[in-house]
Amino acid sequence: MKKITVLGVTGSIGLQCVDVCLHHPEFVIEAMSAGKNISKVEEILTLLPVKHICVIKKEDCDYLKEKYPDRNFYFGNEGLEYIAKLPDVDIVLNAIVGFAGLLPTIEAIKAKKDIALANKETLVVAGHIICDLAKQNNVRLLPVDSEHSAIFQSMNGESKKDVRKIILTCSGGSFRDKSREELIGVSVEQALNHPNWSMGAKITIDSATLFNKGLEVIEAKWLFDLNYDQIEVLIHPESIIHSMVEFVDTSIIAQLGNPDMRLPIQYAFTYPTRKKLINATSLDLAKVATMNFRKPDLVRFKALDLAYQAGRTGGSMPCVLNAANEVANDLFQKNKIEFLMIEELVEKAMKNHQSIENPSLEQLIQVDKETREFVFNQIL
Ligand code: NAD
Ligand code: MG
Repeated sequence: MKKITVLGVTGSIGLQCVDVCLHHPEFVIEAMSAGKNISKVEEILTLLPVKHICVIKKEDCDYLKEKYPDRNFYFGNEGLEYIAKLPDVDIVLNAIVGFAGLLPTIEAIKAKKDIALANKETLVVAGHIICDLAKQNNVRLLPVDSEHSAIFQSMNGESKKDVRKIILTCSGGSFRDKSREELIGVSVEQALNHPNWSMGAKITIDSATLFNKGLEVIEAKWLFDLNYDQIEVLIHPESIIHSMVEFVDTSIIAQLGNPDMRLPIQYAFTYPTRKKLINATSLDLAKVATMNFRKPDLVRFKALDLAYQAGRTGGSMPCVLNAANEVANDLFQKNKIEFLMIEELVEKAMKNHQSIENPSLEQLIQVDKETREFVFNQIL
């Protein structure tokens, strides 16, 4: 049996984790956190005997406490950090979106919990801190992002020194076939219409800009201890090959499957073994018939170029890239800015920042705050 805390249980990844646990009673959700979707929390409470539940607002916490006196409720960041380090829990799935996932991950690592990491922003912002802490506490960082799970699976039993490079595949998002000119005036609804995956709004917009792939490049650098010359991105519109590793002898090992995030979630729980994935169909390659690949054009997909720049600069620059993107992504979703302004604002924020080498957590929190203010001030 494995006891799990799920942070961000009401989101796309969180709910798919609930599905995995409903089919495999040996994975027990001991604790969970949610934002504002309280009816979803109540739905999950009718399905699973989760003991500890954290929400963002105190009034939601009070309401739930009264209605479900046999469970324990908490609220706010303190509550989140508390359920991330409960003594009984073996593994914490972090499926919160954005910078908000950083501090609970740190608490969970300090409490020696293995981390199933969907929240890529954590590694983008503070990869050096997270990796050092994980090492010190002998904690495993198990990737849940499909590309990183594919790399993780492809490296199984291999030696790190034999890796020449990794190839992150990329669907290209909602606008992969549009030119830059055709991106002028695209709507939020169009951007939210991802061709292959159904995901939360922020990551779906990030897939359309390609900031998602950019964040994943930085995430991969930390997870697999690579340099940026060893990380390539390849557009693969079918999303069948989830990523690949090339070894020094030119052999390439890849992981394939129908797009289904339940697989990397479940693999993070079952690693190093496997279990049947319920209600999943085998990949029918004859039906897929053709797979396409092309190199991303870094002028067309400027976000990817910015992410490589931020990663190579290092220090606090990836934190700036992430914070500016979070704000700009949200402004676009609220129809406050045009789609192409997202990358423009990120670029401006990066130009405005003098990177701090080896930043502390406190410095990163400050940089995140200042970058958010800077981006807001650009559109006043
Ligand atoms: P989502 O928006 O569907 O869900 C996010 C969850 O986090 C919700 O439960 C929400 O209530 C909670 N949350 C949001 N802000 C919070 C805050 N400030 N404090 C506490 N909780 C908060 O997002 P998602 O698509 O499930 O993505 C979650 C993470 O997983 C992201 O980092 C994303 O990049 C990554 N990821 C998602 C997918 C996918 O298929 N959805 C794939 C790979 C990686
Ligand atoms: Mg991914």
